[in-house]
Amino acid sequence: MIRRDGQMTSLWQSVADAYQPVSEAIPGQAYDVIVVGAGITGITTALSLQEAGKKCLVVEAVSAGFGTTGGTTAHLNTYVDSTYTTIEKNFDLETAQLVAKATAGAIAMIRHNVERFRIDCEFSNQPAFLFAQDEKEAQQLAEDTVAAMNAGLTIQATDSIPCPIPFTSAVRVGGQAQFNPIRYLFSIAKAYEDAGGTIIQGCRVENVSGDGPVTVETSVGKFTCNDLIYATHIPPGINLLHLRCAPWRSYAIAVKLGSGQYPQGLVYDMKDPYNYYRSQVIDGEDWLIVGGKDHKTGDDVNTEACFVDLESMVRRYYDVKEVGYKWSSQYFESSDGLPYIGLLPGGGDHIYVATGYGGNGMVYGTVAARVLKALITDSEEEISTLFTPSRVKPVAGFTNFLSHNAHVAKSLVEGLFSADKMDELAALAPGEAGIVQYDGRKLGLFKDEQGKIHAVNPTCTHMKCNVNWNAAEQSWDCPCHGARYDMDGKVLTGPADRDLPVVKVEERSSVGASSS
Ligand SMILES: Cc1cc2nc3c(=O)[nH]c(=O)nc-3n(C[C@H](O)[C@H](O)[C@H](O)COP(=O)(O)OP(=O)(O)OC[C@H]3O[C@@H](n4cnc5c(N)ncnc54)[C@H](O)[C@@H]3O)c2cc1C
Repeated sequence: MIRRDGQMTSLWQSVADAYQPVSEAIPGQAYDVIVVGAGITGITTALSLQEAGKKCLVVEAVSAGFGTTGGTTAHLNTYVDSTYTTIEKNFDLETAQLVAKATAGAIAMIRHNVERFRIDCEFSNQPAFLFAQDEKEAQQLAEDTVAAMNAGLTIQATDSIPCPIPFTSAVRVGGQAQFNPIRYLFSIAKAYEDAGGTIIQGCRVENVSGDGPVTVETSVGKFTCNDLIYATHIPPGINLLHLRCAPWRSYAIAVKLGSGQYPQGLVYDMKDPYNYYRSQVIDGEDWLIVGGKDHKTGDDVNTEACFVDLESMVRRYYDVKEVGYKWSSQYFESSDGLPYIGLLPGGGDHIYVATGYGGNGMVYGTVAARVLKALITDSEEEISTLFTPSRVKPVAGFTNFLSHNAHVAKSLVEGLFSADKMDELAALAPGEAGIVQYDGRKLGLFKDEQGKIHAVNPTCTHMKCNVNWNAAEQSWDCPCHGARYDMDGKVLTGPADRDLPVVKVEERSSVGASSS
């Protein structure tokens, strides 16, 4: 089982052992390119650059697939979430056509990798189906259909969809696909190492300085490189992109059906946020994956109730024999509907980023590999500047870019808190968390199943917002920019690069609190 950034288990995690690199990175070494993060963006980009003759190092804080790539639902779409209606409105028709071409190219690249490396990841070409259930949804679907056709997608009206759900109108979109993201990721990671690339896991990038050569300080030592890529889903530190990317949490379950009849195709409703259905075979076993119930990260939402809603929705239409897996994960929505891929704003000429994919990071992460390879190897690509992050206009009074760790202070461990004085602690049931006021200060408290209190300062170390407890994934989530921390304040997801300060709680046997 691989680790991921939450307590719940995704379908993909459960059927894989952690990736074991065969290469070795020795601190002090110099590379052409250092790629930070071993999700689909990092590994695909590193493979492309290594094959183009660059000596690459991938630095991963935990292990390959730990981030959202381990918590995705792995639809491969050219029919992107932001819709071609929005892209055409925010940009123009030519941009919409280039996005359609770029995403089709990404699916072709994944298909090509599956073929040339003989990857057993249950890749299959699939049509997508979108269906409306009332007049308003039907109008939106009709408008989006025209925009998608103008962008170049093959799309037509249909009077049947592969799910037993009533609808008023529907369309079928050609040229989509699906796969097992972790099997794909691990196989291209191996192909990258076979091509001479290096991967180091359990190594967090803590500070980046210089502008070619770039010095990269990590938890195991320093490396240098000519170019650095933040493939961390959202760049760490403080950057304009944090004001342009909103973090969202999304939910998925994988179920077995009593009928044994699993739908073929990728099926989406027109709700906002939308819900979706698709099947996946893993090692001969069928699963129906159902997802949706998205909300802004850290919103005051009962995260466990989102799974209950999802399950009752699928039970309305299907005879569910077993719910095998439930998990949630985070994505980042850009402000204008297109991802940001290219030079990091304010980061000089050698630091790159790929972020703001929305729910299409499998394809956009692959598009990023093509764009970043073109930029770093100075080769021609019609999409080289399509997603340029510098389309983000500077905000008056905002410091352009504070280097990755400019705000790092020495790790704070707060003073010992007397459990006697914290009466609120006793009010928490095992498995519960809450923010309490004590002496004019806020404390984030979680009581685990053994009754042990885990106490942190709930002020996000990124930009000082207050974090909220996510009961389903047992994490402190920041509603502002999506930083996430485990129950002991350890960073799970950037952009924070410092843990939440731990608050020591004095042992007091009568309430079961112990020092954390
Ligand atoms: C529930 C859900 C369903 C989705 N479904 C789809 C879908 O069907 N199709 C689709 O196209 N997209 C989907 N997406 C979006 C897609 O999964 C993501 O956009 C994509 O996985 C992002 O990949 P990534 O490689 O950029 O980031 P990640 O997979 O998050 O990888 C980033 C890596 O960087 C590492 N890292 C971070 N900071 C550091 C540091 N300082 N030092 C070293 N390493 C670091 C992390 O540990 C992590 O492993 C979905 C998202 C969600 C939440």
